[in-house]
Amino acid sequence: MQILVVGAGVIGLAVARAAARAGHDVTVAEATGGIANGVSSRNSEVIHAGLYYPTNSQRAWHCVRGRRMLYEFCASHGVAHRKCGKLVVATNAAELDKVETILAQGRANGVEGLEIIGGNAARAMEQELSCVGALWSPETGIIDSHGFMLALWGELEDRGGMIAFATPVDRMAHQAAHWHVQFGGSDPGVIEFDAVVNAAGLGAQALARRIEGYPAETVPRLVLAKGNYFGFAGRPVFSRLIYPTPVDGGLGVHVTLDLAGRMRFGPDVEWINEESYTVDPRRADSFYDRIRTYWPGLPDGSLVPDYCGIRPKLSGPGEPAADFVIAAPPAHGLPRLVNLFGIESPGLTASLSIAEDVVGQLAA
Ligand SMILES: Cc1cc2nc3c(=O)[nH]c(=O)nc-3n(C[C@H](O)[C@H](O)[C@H](O)COP(=O)(O)OP(=O)(O)OC[C@H]3O[C@@H](n4cnc5c(N)ncnc54)[C@H](O)[C@@H]3O)c2cc1C
Repeated sequence: MQILVVGAGVIGLAVARAAARAGHDVTVAEATGGIANGVSSRNSEVIHAGLYYPTNSQRAWHCVRGRRMLYEFCASHGVAHRKCGKLVVATNAAELDKVETILAQGRANGVEGLEIIGGNAARAMEQELSCVGALWSPETGIIDSHGFMLALWGELEDRGGMIAFATPVDRMAHQAAHWHVQFGGSDPGVIEFDAVVNAAGLGAQALARRIEGYPAETVPRLVLAKGNYFGFAGRPVFSRLIYPTPVDGGLGVHVTLDLAGRMRFGPDVEWINEESYTVDPRRADSFYDRIRTYWPGLPDGSLVPDYCGIRPKLSGPGEPAADFVIAAPPAHGLPRLVNLFGIESPGLTASLSIAEDVVGQLAA
């Protein structure tokens, strides 16, 4: 098949690579001038183990499977990563109950190596930590996500696929067994494809609404939740990822590490109405309070505004977290079309698994 993938984020690139490996002729259309200019370059770069997600959800299945595939991919393609492990810390008795619940959910999801450890054992691993107990997840890691996406792009090109940059997809219609796709940009026109995958991230809903005959009532609403990060201006004190128990809309302000060992904190949850990428320095105040619950030694004046990312959520404040939506032909009635909605965390971890699923659904 001639397949068009819309969007060169980690999901579009993974789908394009999987489709090219399956022998299809693949083109990626990306609105901006490069890969990973959207959500994919504004995240924590954590390879999630798959602890939190409800049993039998898409997120649970694709996170656990995708994580295993991702470690194998990193090893075989020389992508920098480190399986550093993570501690989900409880700072009081109520949080210990929450951590027990996360342990049970993680085990139900098939996550390997999980164990609850006491406060002293946690401090033996990370001396600056203050907690009454913690869940140790040895399978969690960090990755050079840009290196991963470059490797996906390289394999796509090796198999004859290509990316057209500065090529926004405006609309499309299915006529006479083909998708007629209208491109904008400096060289607009219409090109035919056999199949289309909409991996447009924050633009996925807008594009789905411009597909002729697509049932509008099946397009989920898009809710934007910004996640702000603050860098730590000092010598790193942790060598593992440290997470508090989750909060409404996110996993809580956690310690993330990059592959150079630098420490940063985030992301928080800021519900917004429009895309904006500024980090308000005043949000640091709430970061100090939250971080000091598990790291009382955080010095005053050590947090500096860093970057932020926007989660393409399908549910709003106070509502249960929504699952990934992989809308294949049975969901909307149009042939050889898959729309991907709400691919927020753990989308990076899950990308290789989602990609295999999507390519399978196009061929079905
Ligand atoms: C704050 C934050 C932290 C996160 N942390 C983690 C983490 O630690 N681990 C993890 O596994 N996941 C994490 N995630 C989730 C992960 O980053 C996302 O699931 C993933 O990056 C989504 O990739 P994507 O390809 O769907 O979207 P994007 O990367 O946004 O790609 C979509 C692309 O489509 C393009 N586009 C849009 N409309 C059109 C159009 N009409 N025509 C052509 N191109 C178009 C855009 O320009 C963009 O390049 C995090 C997310 C956030 C926001």
